[in-house]
Amino acid sequence: MVIVGGGFGGLQAARKLARQSVDLTLIDRRNFHLFQPLVYQVATGALSPAEVAYPLRHVFRRNGNVKIVLAEVSDVLLDARKVMLRPVAGERAPAFVAYDTLIVAAGSRYSYFGHDRWQHDAENPKTLEGALSIRRRILEAFEAAELEPDAQQRASWLAFVIVGAGPTGVEMAGQIAEIARDLRADFRSVDSSSARILLIEAGDRVLAAFPPSLSAKTLRSLSRLGVTTMLDRTVAGLDDRSVTLARANGPSERIAARTVIWAAGVVASDLAGVLAERAELSVDRAGRVEVLEDLSLPGHPEVLVIGDMIRVRWPDGTSTALPGLAPVAMQQGRHAARSVRRQLRGRSLRPFRYRDEGNLATLGRTSAVAEIKNIRLSGLFAWVTWLTVHLLYLIGFENRVLVLIRWAFSFIAHGRGARLITGNLEPTTVDTGSDSLPVAWPRPDSRREHAA
Ligand SMILES: Cc1cc2nc3c(=O)[nH]c(=O)nc-3n(C[C@H](O)[C@H](O)[C@H](O)COP(=O)(O)OP(=O)(O)OC[C@H]3O[C@@H](n4cnc5c(N)ncnc54)[C@H](O)[C@@H]3O)c2cc1C
Repeated sequence: MVIVGGGFGGLQAARKLARQSVDLTLIDRRNFHLFQPLVYQVATGALSPAEVAYPLRHVFRRNGNVKIVLAEVSDVLLDARKVMLRPVAGERAPAFVAYDTLIVAAGSRYSYFGHDRWQHDAENPKTLEGALSIRRRILEAFEAAELEPDAQQRASWLAFVIVGAGPTGVEMAGQIAEIARDLRADFRSVDSSSARILLIEAGDRVLAAFPPSLSAKTLRSLSRLGVTTMLDRTVAGLDDRSVTLARANGPSERIAARTVIWAAGVVASDLAGVLAERAELSVDRAGRVEVLEDLSLPGHPEVLVIGDMIRVRWPDGTSTALPGLAPVAMQQGRHAARSVRRQLRGRSLRPFRYRDEGNLATLGRTSAVAEIKNIRLSGLFAWVTWLTVHLLYLIGFENRVLVLIRWAFSFIAHGRGARLITGNLEPTTVDTGSDSLPVAWPRPDSRREHAA
């Protein structure tokens, strides 16, 4: 039995199957499970990386039948029943692992809508590395603003643009607004609270997956936090100094901003395309492969595909892409584990049925919006619900305790313990547009440009 991906879907399946008499191999290109819903808090210095990630080997340390392989899956040979591997981070890896039954849960990645080079100037919080890069960019922007004598240049360092007003974009915008306020006492020349936080959204409302009334409440809360929301705008271009926005009925706008964070649109893992090609299927516009209602790959009942990388085809010929949420992947992971148990007993597979567990998004330190089973919540009560749910879902007892302590500290003392600029520490200079001032530790990209 092989599982690809130790994220939300794969981990659930593996935990359920670890208790069965199966030889289980869990393959992931990272050696940890990442709790993505809280990665943005690493990007804003509220939490440290180790508090939102948990080593996969530790999860299964008591399950002798579970083997962890650190490698990237490059291909799946469906007829030969082999998963082909590529080594990661200089580690050794076997060329392939053979399977009787395979579960693929390789997730998704952010899409830059055909402009992949934008990622260079607009990092996303999908990975820990991305989150740490965002953290460095945010903190360096305040440092650069502190040393910048020119008012216009200073304003561009203090402009933070977040692209995409889904839950991640909204949460990120709220957190940056709070950082700007929290840092006020730390700086001498610059007023960090004068930072402009701009949230850009292509649609006509924020949190499009929530009911309109909660979108409207969110908009008001963001405004109170000091976030300017710009709706009906798409990004037409960006570089390390500005973002250009296009509007359907109006001229384009150029915003001078040194820090841009990408939180818009996702596409399925490339493995969805690999599976589709091998099974002679097509993928949808978001790169998802279509599976049957029991989550098996058409023509291959021994291969189950789950989570962000699929859409489900129903017997009446219609198909649905379920929301890209952790509970969807987790329910599918549990379903896949049950299916494997049924197959082992010679029984047929059952259709997957999704149970909607609701939607949550936090807006700053004590406010959130939530829709759970048609009950709409906002404000402090929704925030307590958000907090409880995230603590319950977080893997590992020590992580729960640490995160709770961090949040309590942040709530009482407005502290952000992980406000560290990390990375390569080679001093250099940044062209400020007037004088060339020595600036602490600029972004690696600008360092490369100026070295050139
Ligand atoms: C910033 C952010 C915030 C989010 N916030 C929320 C939230 O608040 N609530 C919510 O419900 N959902 C949230 N989501 C969505 C949720 O995280 C996803 O829906 C969920 O992670 C999907 O689970 P999955 O198992 O399909 O994929 P993932 O959890 O992404 O797991 C995929 C795993 O596969 C591994 N992998 C990928 N490709 C390969 C390969 N080729 N070889 C080997 N291993 C591979 C990856 O390393 C990873 O461990 C958020 C997502 C992001 C990015």
